[in-house]
Amino acid sequence: MVDLQGQYQQIKETVNTSIEQVLNSSAYINGPLVHEFQADLEKYLNVKHVIPCANGTDALQIAMMGLGLEQGDEVITADFTFAATVEVIGLLKLTPVLVDVDAKTFNIDIDALKKAITPKTKAIVPVHLFGQLANMDAVMEIAKEHNLFVIEDNAQAIGADYTFKDGTKKKAGTIGNVGTTSFFPSKNLGCYGDGGAIFTNDDELAHTIRGIVNHGMYTRYYHDVVGVNSRLDSIQAGVLKAKLPLLDSYCEARRNAARFYNKTLSVSENIITPTTNACNEICDTCNCHVFHQYTLQITNGKRDALHKHLLEKGIPNAIYYPVALHSQKAYADSRYKESDFPVTNELIKTVISLPMHTELDQEQLTFITQTILNFVN
Ligand SMILES: *Cc1c(COP(=O)(O)O)cnc(C)c1O
Repeated sequence: MVDLQGQYQQIKETVNTSIEQVLNSSAYINGPLVHEFQADLEKYLNVKHVIPCANGTDALQIAMMGLGLEQGDEVITADFTFAATVEVIGLLKLTPVLVDVDAKTFNIDIDALKKAITPKTKAIVPVHLFGQLANMDAVMEIAKEHNLFVIEDNAQAIGADYTFKDGTKKKAGTIGNVGTTSFFPSKNLGCYGDGGAIFTNDDELAHTIRGIVNHGMYTRYYHDVVGVNSRLDSIQAGVLKAKLPLLDSYCEARRNAARFYNKTLSVSENIITPTTNACNEICDTCNCHVFHQYTLQITNGKRDALHKHLLEKGIPNAIYYPVALHSQKAYADSRYKESDFPVTNELIKTVISLPMHTELDQEQLTFITQTILNFVN
């Protein structure tokens, strides 16, 4: 699905230099490169505070802790996402409220979100799924009206831009009260191990979160709150500092591959190619989808057969996600009715994600698309 080796070969020298710098300094934890990467990312995202942490799941958990959410508070998120989003809500003994997604963007459905709000609702977690921003005009409006926090799960959309109705632009993850991301190797900005970060423009929240990631310490050995130990190590920060300047070109390489997939595969009546209508600009030219995944819907019931066929032909592909969160044993709840999730229940049967990375060449793209068209038509 991704070609991490091919990408590494292109950037070997700069990455190795960064890693050697850490090895030569022995500053493995909280070394200078962590602070340099943090500052670079703040500048890139145009956000006041980036707080690095150990992974994207921790980032979500720490964001929720930082906002002071308490047992019983309801947190609304999408039914169609990676489990990490809802896992941390459960871990903190908050009450997850899963809602259906939009049939075109696969992101949180705005009507379903509105219906799910109760007096106990405290936060909304839009997930910018597969690299495309949720409808943030609507999410922010609803949050304002009901006085709710917005935590953007931006693990899949770092580098994407959102254009608001009034024309202003913001980077994904910097729109809500707080945004989180993951630097897992296969993410769009990936390190060579685990890593994550939290973004916010709120000075007070940033201060709180800086303590939480470090055992609740604001002064050394004085623990004001119960915190966690969640750090981005210096070697990973070195890798990320070397790769950040390439992020925009990586996004563009992904969009180029997506354009070819779109053009070639949309001719089939059995395939729905991804819709990119997240923002209010013409999406062919803007950057509101950074294609963390390129995900088709196969509408003639041949999805599972195609999955097997492609594997036999040596073409990696994956079903993200095969089970709706509301159907998972860990997250099932008698409040949920199947009729509340028509879109997610359909998507889990029809979606298939194709190889998507920065090193796809024309020959590979042609082979992949021809193999798919020959099979589904
Ligand atoms: C990858 C991912 C996470 C978790 O990130 P980790 O670094 O693996 O903990 C959370 N949410 C979404 C949507 C993800 O894709």
